Amino acid sequence: MIYLDNTASTFVDEDVLSSYQKFVKEFYANPSSSHGYGLKCADLEMKARKQIASILKVKENEIIFTSGATEANNLAIKGAALYYKERGNHIVTSKIEHASVLEAFRQLENEFGFNVTYLDVDEYGKINIDELKNVINDNTILVSIMSVNNETGAINNIEEIANVLSKYPKVLFHSDITQSVGKISVDLSKVDMASLSLHKVHGFKGSGILVKKSYVTLLPLLSGGGQEYNLRSGTNNLPYEVSAAKTLRIAFEKQKENYKKVKELHTYLYEELKNIDGITMNSALDGSPYIMNFSINKKASVVVEALSNKGIYVSTKSACSSKKSSTSYVLQALGKTDNQASNAIRVSFTYETNKEEIDTFIKELKLILKSIR
Ligand code: PMP
Repeated sequence: MIYLDNTASTFVDEDVLSSYQKFVKEFYANPSSSHGYGLKCADLEMKARKQIASILKVKENEIIFTSGATEANNLAIKGAALYYKERGNHIVTSKIEHASVLEAFRQLENEFGFNVTYLDVDEYGKINIDELKNVINDNTILVSIMSVNNETGAINNIEEIANVLSKYPKVLFHSDITQSVGKISVDLSKVDMASLSLHKVHGFKGSGILVKKSYVTLLPLLSGGGQEYNLRSGTNNLPYEVSAAKTLRIAFEKQKENYKKVKELHTYLYEELKNIDGITMNSALDGSPYIMNFSINKKASVVVEALSNKGIYVSTKSACSSKKSSTSYVLQALGKTDNQASNAIRVSFTYETNKEEIDTFIKELKLILKSIR
């Protein structure tokens, strides 16, 4: 198998898996129980929280464990908009956010009366900072802009956006950093909230984190026992929390080395693809080296299926929206034609991807493109 769909999900790291197995067997008490065993689990949980906080350079009470980035995005966006609604009803995002951000904004717009600005992006997927400055008004309370786009790999300058927004004390800045964590550095010092997911960096599915600065208040989406600083009720999953800490530690330790490896492959694949007849590149060379998107002049779903029959796994677009429509709203927002936006292929790497796999992919892709009329 040649797995080139690492933006959708990654394999679980062996060390993460073995620490999970140990914790699931040995520390199954409820961390909220007041007996010694529960207290031991609570202690281990705090240790994991502290480790994560130190890796992300935030405070331990700013780490909220969630079931993934979808939940983290929903909690940040709906939680902030609904809590601060008396301050203003204008919220801002971009047209190419992940569905879990866009749908949360649409719900706030359609069901709660918020006024939403969906920012345009350039031909690769970056927002224009001057346009962002222009749309902010006295009613703006929240801006959510992703770091790395999951379809094209376009990188927004989160530090610059955070700097601009720090001049507006009423505006909270949230960023979906799911595709950058452990891959591309993001400085969270001026970001008010950030969402991430562990299964994109060799951790578990169903495991995510919302970083929420201590001065931000949110309306919780889940009420109950008051876990996670009253923001996310439900029994804590200690083995997942410990695994999250381990996943991030490994990813951050190897980030530079992995980046270098993957960057070489990305450049190599880019140069090869751009010379194939009928291919249009949708990713830039200066985007995330983990993601490569291009359109073909044949039906992408047929090509992806033919590759899959040969044991090569790539995707047509984001796995979260691939079942809805064949046209990518991300590529449409980049100004691509309908044909290009409906016939794109995304190839995504991990540190284990090697040149032989890329060569096989290119060879098979060329054969398939030739064989289809
Ligand atoms: N945001 C981005 C940018 C993503 O790529 C994904 C995963 N497709 C998510 C959010 C959702 O993450 P999860 O699967 O953990 O809910």
